[in-house]
Amino acid sequence: MRDLARNLRSCALRSARDAPAESTTIIAVKHREIYTELLSPNVRDRLLATLVEEGILRLLGAHGLEFVDATPVPYVRLATNTGENGVVAQCVGVWFDVRPLVGPDGDEDYYLPVLCIPEAASEATLAHELLHLRDLLALIERDPSYPERASRLSVNGVETVSEIDGSIDFELFKIFAMEPQAYRLEFEMGETWIDVPCAGFRYHCATADELVAIRLADYVVNLERKYVERFPGHEATIQQAMRRWTNDHAGDVFRPPAYERIHQVNACAALMFLAEGSRTRSA
Ligand SMILES: [Zn+2]
Repeated sequence: MRDLARNLRSCALRSARDAPAESTTIIAVKHREIYTELLSPNVRDRLLATLVEEGILRLLGAHGLEFVDATPVPYVRLATNTGENGVVAQCVGVWFDVRPLVGPDGDEDYYLPVLCIPEAASEATLAHELLHLRDLLALIERDPSYPERASRLSVNGVETVSEIDGSIDFELFKIFAMEPQAYRLEFEMGETWIDVPCAGFRYHCATADELVAIRLADYVVNLERKYVERFPGHEATIQQAMRRWTNDHAGDVFRPPAYERIHQVNACAALMFLAEGSRTRSA
């Protein structure tokens, strides 16, 4: 198993970026075809065994894995514990050589999206991650360079100050391409609240729009904090990139100026949580 965040040796995907549009389309279709083949009845048992051999359980902190025959997309589910950082579930890509499973036309470095789901996760949480899986497969079809960029440019993978701008562009693109519809789905499935663990209560949102706005504002502010922790002394560069790319990617959720709106929403949410917390305690 290659390092999830830093593996750059995605030969097919790298060539896709430089190739004419026609080849790009072939490679994009190929990603979906390989996914379907890996999860087909003839291959999936060997796929699970390969993932175990490659050390993916240890890599993702999982204690088991299984094939799930879901419609419209079957998937590999890894059983994880709720993380210390509060991550309860995630859709993540793992890289490995698929040629022993699908033949010589397969990729040496294939990016397989899998779901890490704790056993106690709710139906809405699972639905949220399944929607990410479907969106991710569709995104790779539209943009075959996505897996390679996800490795190189994710907030955990980026290594140099010169990559901060590109990394923030990528992370904010990903958040606003994936999260609004997933949070909306959670609300529609009845999970209409936001847990405020530090205050020990749940804030109940009145509308899906409210839930989406509060969660995304929190997500963006936390993302900025992660970059500041990773690159101390570069706060101005980080804030400039955050403002620029938030304004560029967040237009469907926050009206302009989106970056400032997000900080307003975050501040308002903190006040609402405070008021709700003291009301709950005095009740
Ligand atoms: Zn999500």
